[in-house]
Amino acid sequence: MKSGLPEVFFITIKDEEPIESIQDKTGILFEEAGFPSLIGVSDSVAIKTHFGEKGNKTHLTPDHIRPLVNKIKENGGKPYLTETSVLYKGNRSNALDHILLAFDHGFTYENVGAPIIMSDGFLGVFEKEIVINGDCYEKVRIAGDAIAADTLLIVSHATGHLLSGLGATIKNLGMGLSSRKGKLDQHSEVAPRINADKCDFCKTCIKWCPENCIVEHDNVAFITEEKCIGCGECIAVCKPGAVGFKWHTTSENLQKKMMEHAFGVFLEKKEKLAYLTFMTNMTKDCDCMKSKDKLIPDIGILASLDPIALDMATLDLTKEQCSENLSKLAHPHVDPLIQINHGVKLGMGSKEYKLVRLDGKAIKV
Ligand code: SF4
Ligand code: SF4
Repeated sequence: MKSGLPEVFFITIKDEEPIESIQDKTGILFEEAGFPSLIGVSDSVAIKTHFGEKGNKTHLTPDHIRPLVNKIKENGGKPYLTETSVLYKGNRSNALDHILLAFDHGFTYENVGAPIIMSDGFLGVFEKEIVINGDCYEKVRIAGDAIAADTLLIVSHATGHLLSGLGATIKNLGMGLSSRKGKLDQHSEVAPRINADKCDFCKTCIKWCPENCIVEHDNVAFITEEKCIGCGECIAVCKPGAVGFKWHTTSENLQKKMMEHAFGVFLEKKEKLAYLTFMTNMTKDCDCMKSKDKLIPDIGILASLDPIALDMATLDLTKEQCSENLSKLAHPHVDPLIQINHGVKLGMGSKEYKLVRLDGKAIKV
């Protein structure tokens, strides 16, 4: 931290850049951002990433992760990949189906050089409570093995996100490493309603609702509120936009709660936490959704030891390239600065940072 500000290291990636070049640049970032200093000999190093939902084609691939695995091994560490179960239906709602999907997406030991160990047990209920004394929670529920490794490397793919605006480092750390109950806690105030005038009763939301609480009523879909867990899947999958909720209050609460879960992991591991985010294949919604077209051109990769600075740099650099930041382009009604400002208030990092551009560094062959 030379100038008193956290450093965010940045290297440019262009559309259609060969994967070999992306891999070389990932290795350079790993070194320049000081990640080797976090790894002791024989240290276990968990790489938290996202294997992509079935049908998603824009998630990070084994080719993105392998250079990080190799770097960790070069530095004496023992890497593994980790993830948690999600709330909604699909192929990632328990450890077995999730790992099989990860294999389908190529995240095998042969391809990546590291095994997968889920952090929240077979059904996502293995958890640990961490005292944070935050504004929303005294304690948060984190996946039981989220902090088990000596070092934690959060590898994120920047996208838009329906509820938090930006889906990047904080979302991967906070939502991505909480237990099932922790995820439910974060969604508890999401209370969607269906506008009957807009519903064409395509039944997509019924298929996706994890609680089976959407029913037919007068030939439109209707949410049985008492059973709804607020996961927001019906909002995300409704093409006519018939499902709505109070954007401002809902998003504000969710962002703060997500940040407080991230804070729980941060408090436990802060000297042994590193973050790397790919700003490539950026889409309107996160990798839990089926792929849509890229929203903006590829920009690059960021690495830092400060999660707040890293997400702020993601917003700033996308705005620099596209006139509006990724969140605003994807979901204009959501203000992602709510999560950033809450993270600053909690003491997790800085909104101001020094951007260290690494373009021009010798590319290793
Ligand atoms: S997805 Fe939307 S349009 Fe289709 S049934 Fe549900 S609310 Fe109606
Ligand atoms: S109705 Fe509730 S539980 Fe069902 S998908 Fe929508 S938010 Fe999730």
